[in-house]
Amino acid sequence: MAIYVNKHDGFEQTEVPTRECPHCGAHAQLLPLATPSFDELQRARPQHVGIVFRCASCNEPRFLRVAVRAFGPERVELSANLVEVERPREKFQYGYLGEDVERLLHEAFDCYTANCHTAFALFSRLAVDAALKEADPVTQRRWLESLRDVLQLADVDADTARTLEAALFGDSNVLPSIGPDAAAVLIEAVKDLFYQAYVRTAKLRAAMKMRRYFVDETLRNVTPIDRARRDSTAKTS
Ligand SMILES: [Zn+2]
Repeated sequence: MAIYVNKHDGFEQTEVPTRECPHCGAHAQLLPLATPSFDELQRARPQHVGIVFRCASCNEPRFLRVAVRAFGPERVELSANLVEVERPREKFQYGYLGEDVERLLHEAFDCYTANCHTAFALFSRLAVDAALKEADPVTQRRWLESLRDVLQLADVDADTARTLEAALFGDSNVLPSIGPDAAAVLIEAVKDLFYQAYVRTAKLRAAMKMRRYFVDETLRNVTPIDRARRDSTAKTS
């Protein structure tokens, strides 16, 4: 893909880029909305420019930053590498969480999106604390073991595993030291912990309740005659 700002008829891209939208979540086309002018580019000669697109799915603005490749007399060529200024937010089925836990986890994931890794670890810790506030020691132990299981399953090295365990369950007065690598592991581990504790549990319970309801319904709908016939068939077969 190439992008040009032409002298007379302005913005031109050889193909329409598509990206995941942070607003609606769709993998949608980016349609240009506010683009740099040729004259301004020639006058200021910046190394980077900003372009506002709109999401073809939800119409919200999408801000992208792009490097200038070359200034020509008839057109300015821009890099095909569009850097998104707003990153998509981390998705989670927040509806299954309590209000306090939801607020803290949302904030934690927003810190991750903003590359604030220590803040992300701290808010994750607060979300875990809020989730386990009234939990018995068995549940607390189960959360810790779930984390260890996930880290082991994912083959995470021992140093990182120790750091992450300390960040979520260790001494809360010690500031965790979390770099981008550890944060990338932590986000998946935290999502899995909360998924297991809330989403998976609630879905399993609902599914089992539904199945038992249908079993009851079926039994209720069998008339005494059907039941007698079924019983006699069962005896003769
Ligand atoms: Zn959208």
